[in-house]
Amino acid sequence: MPSSPPTLRRITVLSGGVGGARFIQGLLHGLRSGLVPGGSPDTEVTVVANTADDWWIHGLKVCPDLDTVMYTLGDGIDVERGWGRRDETWSARTELEAYGVEPTWFGLGDRDIATHLVRTQMLEAGFSLSQVTAALCRRWLSPLHGDTVTLLPMSDDRVETHIAVADPDSPSGRSVIHFQEYWVRLRAAVPAEAVLVVGQDAATPAPGVLEAIAGTDLVILPPSNPVVSVGTILGVPGIRDAVRATPAPVVGLSPIVGASHVHGMAAQVLTSIGVEVSAGAVGAHFGARSEGGVLDGWLVDSRDADQLARLEAAGLRAQAVPLMMSDPDATAAMAAAAVALASAGRA
Ligand code: GDP
Ligand code: CA
Repeated sequence: MPSSPPTLRRITVLSGGVGGARFIQGLLHGLRSGLVPGGSPDTEVTVVANTADDWWIHGLKVCPDLDTVMYTLGDGIDVERGWGRRDETWSARTELEAYGVEPTWFGLGDRDIATHLVRTQMLEAGFSLSQVTAALCRRWLSPLHGDTVTLLPMSDDRVETHIAVADPDSPSGRSVIHFQEYWVRLRAAVPAEAVLVVGQDAATPAPGVLEAIAGTDLVILPPSNPVVSVGTILGVPGIRDAVRATPAPVVGLSPIVGASHVHGMAAQVLTSIGVEVSAGAVGAHFGARSEGGVLDGWLVDSRDADQLARLEAAGLRAQAVPLMMSDPDATAAMAAAAVALASAGRA
């Protein structure tokens, strides 16, 4: 008689912005429609989101990955863009431009600005980023998800990814710019020479993060950027150790399909840290827990089945399945495959 899959009471996901949010949306769809083995509509999902993309602009604290997850799961996202509010208008940006206020390359939508105003006011009143996030989520997550979805920043401390790029005008031949300037102004069109995560060594995990990793039934690394999303979360002192130590299985899904990322700039930042841009190399970069890494299993796209032997040699359970998040059913199937890969090791 086939054994039933272990019940999933809790799942913890370490997420960036667009890739992570789309995956979690598919995971929730899968849990609610019975597509995920062992899952149910009551399975609690805790999202630990990257905050190293955060920055201050026009006096406002902006947290792109937290907001992308919050708006996506709260059905407020602009689906086409993948970030920001649906039905957005841009009057404030136009007015700021008319005043000649820099930077003009980072547009804040009018609806989105309300979120940043609430966040900034609360931070300035002394609330932590975790408390602010919980308050914002009462609007976006509670009505649709009740208590089943919790969004946590990776840390309440200021941690910022900066990118070194070649700059012939600088005496050192390079300059170091905020991640947002690299991504939004330069469109990641020049090589990233180095990734510097400012403030990371002194940061501590936000309340609830270590508990969510230690006390879960499954940890998932979604197809988020392995360097500037998942990498920065794991780099907060204590988080990598918690992932290594959790009794729960840890599985990930490759954001690299074929020779590059699906969207974004993972290829540029992987190259800057000396990791080959392939699904197999990223799995090996995270590494097997049995070999000092953070993963037990790693899913690659069907097109990357040639990477499986290399991953198994690195001590990982690996499988090739379709990994394109083209619609909620396809994404739910990815989540189901991740759960199946996790439970395969428990047989
Ligand atoms: P960001 O913070 O908005 O950049 O989002 P994430 O870090 O969460 O995710 C970015 C990653 O998602 C990129 O490296 C993409 O390659 C990956 N990604 C986006 N769509 C897909 C998809 O459909 N399938 C896979 N496998 N990866 C995807
Ligand atoms: Ca991001």
